[in-house]
Amino acid sequence: MAQRTVQEYGAFARDIGQILYTEEQIQQRVRELGVQISADYEGKNPLLVGVLKGVLFFLADLLRAMTIPLEVDFIAVSSFSPQTRQQGYVRMIKDLDIPIGGRHVIFVEDVIDTGLTLNYILRTLRVHKPASLEVCTLFDKPAKRLIDAPVKYKGFDLPDQYVVGYGLDYREKYRNLPFVGLLAAHAFKDAAQEERSG
Ligand code: 5GP
Repeated sequence: MAQRTVQEYGAFARDIGQILYTEEQIQQRVRELGVQISADYEGKNPLLVGVLKGVLFFLADLLRAMTIPLEVDFIAVSSFSPQTRQQGYVRMIKDLDIPIGGRHVIFVEDVIDTGLTLNYILRTLRVHKPASLEVCTLFDKPAKRLIDAPVKYKGFDLPDQYVVGYGLDYREKYRNLPFVGLLAAHAFKDAAQEERSG
């Protein structure tokens, strides 16, 4: 399939200042992860748990790159950014549907930044006593880590900057871009202005 370009996405894609990872690079790396995880979990019927909504595209592509029987479930959390006063305050807003006790669980995340969200989720999952629990993240931002994050499978490292695309949003926008990039400065300003004018 031909790679899609920024131009095809019209005006809103001009908010992307720089593409960090192209659609092709992402798809290639996700396929590699799928092959690796399939080999590691052969015969284990793993349960992949994703956290909504940013992980949506990564998880969908990862599942299709895996060649072994598996199951999938979702949780949703609400977290406050480290810029706010409630640093590291994470709350579960959608719990698991499938019991994870005794299962081989792979927690799948879009981005790990400070590690606080991951830490909260892992603590919550461990209470249910899975047979094993590993972490797979598409992106890792090691620069601002506040707490150790035990990542077994990783797609790419990111600089300490806010990225959008491939499921990742800024105020719910840009998730549908198939590549990942940095927002141009004008996009942050425009969004702030829209918010002020209601
Ligand atoms: P942490 O708790 O590790 O600081 O934050 C992890 C969560 O913050 C991720 O699951 C993601 O929702 C969000 N996040 C961190 N960095 C970015 C980013 O660059 N772009 C977007 N869209 N979300 C991010």
